[in-house]
Amino acid sequence: MDLVLMGLPGAGKGTQAEKIVEKYGIPHISTGDMFRAAIKGETPLGKKAKEYIDAGNLVPDEVTIGIVRERLGKDDCKEGFLLDGFPRTVAQAEELENILSEMNRTIDYVININVDRNKLMERLTGRRVCRNCGATYHVVFNPPKEEGVCDKCGGELYQREDDNEKTVGTRLEVNIKQQQPLLDFYEEKGYLQNISGDQDINDVFKDIDRLLGGLTK
Ligand SMILES: [Zn+2]
Repeated sequence: MDLVLMGLPGAGKGTQAEKIVEKYGIPHISTGDMFRAAIKGETPLGKKAKEYIDAGNLVPDEVTIGIVRERLGKDDCKEGFLLDGFPRTVAQAEELENILSEMNRTIDYVININVDRNKLMERLTGRRVCRNCGATYHVVFNPPKEEGVCDKCGGELYQREDDNEKTVGTRLEVNIKQQQPLLDFYEEKGYLQNISGDQDINDVFKDIDRLLGGLTK
């Protein structure tokens, strides 16, 4: 089963990726891990990627795509893979189509974990961190016993700059803008499956599992 996983920040993509990988035994291929492995392994493409990263530049598509091609060609991907964080653009998605067709394969599903913007704002801005011990809480999902006070050490809880409404709002807008053309592309190809992420974590996985169960029959 060849899968691409998509979802905005806060949609719960990481949790679902873990569950999919555990149940179906396919490798979770995130862009970050792929780059780290290529750089650590000092492959020619890894070396090239490192040059760009060290210089503080974006790694160009040709290098990224080369790394993806190498990774998907590895033995552990024979039965499938779960791509996460790639593709990010329609150009990359088209390249992925090419890579897979060279391997006589095709994407089975693009799973998009869908949560509306207001719910994401609530999830992403509710985090509170203890100034003293670093413990994290959430005002809705994991509140401390006493508002603003750490259960573990009595320290003061605060909201990190990254978690405030303005920062989170901007980050979401950027992601929504980036993601939409990709969703359209995959919708048109017939791969796109929207799964509601606005439910209990286990129920989200049940929906995904139901979808993927159809592939293994
Ligand atoms: Zn604390």
